[in-house]
Amino acid sequence: MDYKKLIACHECDLLFRKPLLRGGQTASCSRCRAGLEGTQGASVPLDRIGALTVAALITFCIAQAFPVIQLQTNGMTSEATLFGAVRSLWTGHMRIVATMVFCSAILFPLIELLALLYVLVPLRLGKVVRHFNRMLRVVQLIRPWGMIEVFMLGVVITIVKMVSMAQVIPGPGLFAFGALTLMLAFLATFDPRVLWSTRDEIKFRQPAEIRWTRVKRRCAPRAPTFFGLKPAPAAHMTARSAGLIACHTCGLVQKHIAASSEQRCSRCESVLHTRHPDSVTRTSSLVLAAALAYIPANLLPIMHASSLGHSEDDTILGGVAYFWTSGDWPLAVVVFVASVVVPMLKLAILTLQIVAARRSPDWQPLERARLHRLVECVGRWSMLDIFVVALTVALVHFGSFAVVTAGPGALAFGAVVILTMLASHQFDPRLIWDNVRCGPARGSRR
Ligand SMILES: [Zn+2]
Ligand SMILES: [Zn+2]
Repeated sequence: MDYKKLIACHECDLLFRKPLLRGGQTASCSRCRAGLEGTQGASVPLDRIGALTVAALITFCIAQAFPVIQLQTNGMTSEATLFGAVRSLWTGHMRIVATMVFCSAILFPLIELLALLYVLVPLRLGKVVRHFNRMLRVVQLIRPWGMIEVFMLGVVITIVKMVSMAQVIPGPGLFAFGALTLMLAFLATFDPRVLWSTRDEIKFRQPAEIRWTRVKRRCAPRAPTFFGLKPAPAAHMTARSAGLIACHTCGLVQKHIAASSEQRCSRCESVLHTRHPDSVTRTSSLVLAAALAYIPANLLPIMHASSLGHSEDDTILGGVAYFWTSGDWPLAVVVFVASVVVPMLKLAILTLQIVAARRSPDWQPLERARLHRLVECVGRWSMLDIFVVALTVALVHFGSFAVVTAGPGALAFGAVVILTMLASHQFDPRLIWDNVRCGPARGSRR
C-alpha cells in the first residue's frame, strides 16, 4: 500500500489522492472547502523564496536598528524603536506585555526567517541540512505568532494619534517596516509544508509526488479503493475510518498503530493524534479564562497619561471615543473592530463550537468550518492595541512635561488575545465533521 500517494484534509480528515497540479494551482477539499495543506505556493521557485527571505532579514535588521517614529514638542525630541518600546514596557513593570511584544514582533519573525533560510539554502544545493525536521517544525509552529503586519498597522494608528499633540516625523524604521510587511505578506503565501516533499525527493531520490498545472481547481475525493480497503461504492473515507493517520506537521499519511501509546510521524517525528486529545475541554478552559480576562481588559485603563501634574486614564473604549470625536472616524472603526468586535466575535464563535461539539456535533458543519477559519484568520489583529500602547509609552516620556505608562488593562487585553488564539489552535476542526455522513463523490474537478 502506497500511502504517499494520499493526502488527508487537515480540517475534515477526508482522504484524497494527491492532486496533479502545475503552475499557480492550488487544491481545496470538496467537503469542507479548506485549502489542502502543502499545496499553496508549491510552484514558487526556491530561489525566489530564498532571495526574498534574505531581503526580509536585511530589512528586518534595518527596521529594528532605526527609529520608527520621532516626536517633537516644545523643543523636546523623543524617538521610538521597536526594541525601545519593549524596553519601556519592561522598565515600566509591564514585563508580560513587554515579552508579548518582543516575541510577536521581534523574536518569532526573526526565528522564522533564520530557520527558513537554514533549510532553504542547502535544499537549493540538493542537500538536506542537519536538524531539518526540527527547524521546519519550528517554522510551522511559530508562523501564526509573528505579527509584523499588525505592528505596522499599530504604527499608523500611533502616528495619527500623536499628530494632534506634537510634530510626528517618520523614521527610517517606518519605511523598513512597510517594506518588511510586504515581503512577509508574499512569504506567507508560501506554505513551508511543501519543503517536506522536496526533502523526500532529495533524500530518497523520489520523484515529486505533486506536479503543478496552471488552472486553479478543487480536488474531488475518490473512493479510496486503491489502498486495499473496500468501502461502500462511491463513498468517501476519512483517514481515521481507513485505519490511517495524517501528520498535522508534514501531512504524511501513515498507518495508525492503535497499540502504541505515543505514535510518532515516520518523517518529521511529531507526535501523532487521530484527534487532538481533550480538544473540547482544553478549548473550553481557555475560552473561560479569556472571557474572564475580557472584563478587566475593558474596564481597567490600558494607559495612564500624566502631563504637568494632570493625569488621565485611557481605556480601550475611551481610545475609540477619542478618535471618533476628533474626526478620525475611519481609525475609530479600525480600533473598535480590532479591539472590541474581534475579541467578542472570537469568544462567541469558540463558545458556539464548544456547545455544538458537545450537544449537536453534526449541526451545520460547513458553516462551522468557515467560522473556525475566520477565527484563525482574524485572531492576531487584536494585538493592535497592545502595539499602540507599546509605541505610545516609548514615545511620550518628556520628564515632568508629559509621560505615558501602560495600565493593567493592557495586561488583561494581551491575555485575552493570547488565550483566544491558543483556544482556536486547541480546537480540532475534524470534530466538526466526525459525525457527518460522507456523501457520494460528485466529481467536482474543473
Ligand atoms: Zn476537508
Ligand atoms: Zn510528520
